[in-house]
Amino acid sequence: MCGIIAVINNSNASNIVKFGLHTLQHKGEEAVGISSSDNNNIYIIKKKGLVDSAITNEDCERLPGNMAIGHVRYSTEGGPSGIQPLFAKLKLGSVAIAHNGHIAKCSNVRDKLESEGSIFQTSSDTELILHLMAKSKNTNYFDKLREALNISSGSYSIVLLTNDGVIVARDKYGIRPLILGRIGETIIAASESCVMDFFGAKIIRNVNPGEQLWLDNISNIKKVNSNICIFEYIYFARPDSVIDDKSVYNARIQLGRQLAISNPIDADICIPVPDSGIEAAIGYSYQSGIPFIRGILRMHYAGRTFIQPSQEIRLNKIRMKLSCVKSVINGKKVIVIDDSIVRGNTSKRIVSLLKEAGAKEIHFRISSPPIKFPCYYGIDTPDTGELIASYTNVDKIKEIIKCDSLAYLTLEDMKDALKLENCCDACFTGKYLI
Ligand code: AMP
Repeated sequence: MCGIIAVINNSNASNIVKFGLHTLQHKGEEAVGISSSDNNNIYIIKKKGLVDSAITNEDCERLPGNMAIGHVRYSTEGGPSGIQPLFAKLKLGSVAIAHNGHIAKCSNVRDKLESEGSIFQTSSDTELILHLMAKSKNTNYFDKLREALNISSGSYSIVLLTNDGVIVARDKYGIRPLILGRIGETIIAASESCVMDFFGAKIIRNVNPGEQLWLDNISNIKKVNSNICIFEYIYFARPDSVIDDKSVYNARIQLGRQLAISNPIDADICIPVPDSGIEAAIGYSYQSGIPFIRGILRMHYAGRTFIQPSQEIRLNKIRMKLSCVKSVINGKKVIVIDDSIVRGNTSKRIVSLLKEAGAKEIHFRISSPPIKFPCYYGIDTPDTGELIASYTNVDKIKEIIKCDSLAYLTLEDMKDALKLENCCDACFTGKYLI
């Protein structure tokens, strides 16, 4: 999962992109990149680390022009050399591209291009788009991009910077989000609506599934329903974002309410795994009447644990990240709410923390179904072998994490709670759209 943004018609475009990326930081903490254009040249700066510390004011001064794009990276493919935006000099002119998602059929197309003589500089699937654009016989950026995307397909939202303007596009299933907003003359495209709120921009609409457009030419077209990634509602998006006209915050509250209806348990307190379980725990507490208490605290300086490269580092990070408020836990029957269990590291650690703090009983409730299948559409869920629910059942997971009871939402209950007509839920069902 990554975050992307594009801005046009603003003499401060690179600064706007920097602050927009800061707002999207939850979508990727590994690296950040910004590229701008002054209509003659394309400039680019890419760094590892968090937006605020990595991109300085001096960097923004070195990114002139009234249009810019940016990317925060959450590693899926490409390694460090895959930090985006990626830059290329095509015969037509220079371009920079950033995307969120995953280009499917990537290895087939890549093999073919390599056997025809293309030399790739990264293992990133984004680079493939640039090669396909370079090979296209079309004579303008728009058609070159369309042709490249048709050949490669996949789940993606894309921003492409040229010296003529910015093109944005979304895959035909609409798995990855992309929203358009305006503040005065300035037009913004971003992965989440929280960016628009940050700038006080008015939301224009979503980029439709399968739509590709120049950012200075947004027409009013009929809304097409998307197959949005359901995990955006469960975990990925910021709770203050709205996706496909649905508030993420309300969606999570509903998931929590549903969890309390379908998996009730008598307890003294209901505590969230911070921050991902907070809204679902509020919903559980509303529904059940069991008091919502912040019994576990998260150290905000520890960064995301999940994205760490090895199990040992992940476990150490979880240890650094979470702690218990002993005075509220001691002697209590506790319901712990989290949005999901992936490898089981977090829940295992929480149970041992709660036991050390004197919890009398620990009941885990998860506001989504067991994740059994890897995501091939841009979320860095591990391969099947590491997903705890892929190799064992709920009773065994309960034993592994050593809690007194464990229950998940069923797929049906989750969908009822979210009231989503279409979505991608392959991580729960194994039914892949592409
Ligand atoms: P684990 O410790 O591997 O079971 O991971 C579960 C925790 O990671 C939960 O608290 C989730 O909120 C969070 N999480 C779930 N999916 C992801 C993901 N794709 N990337 C980062 N964190 C995640």
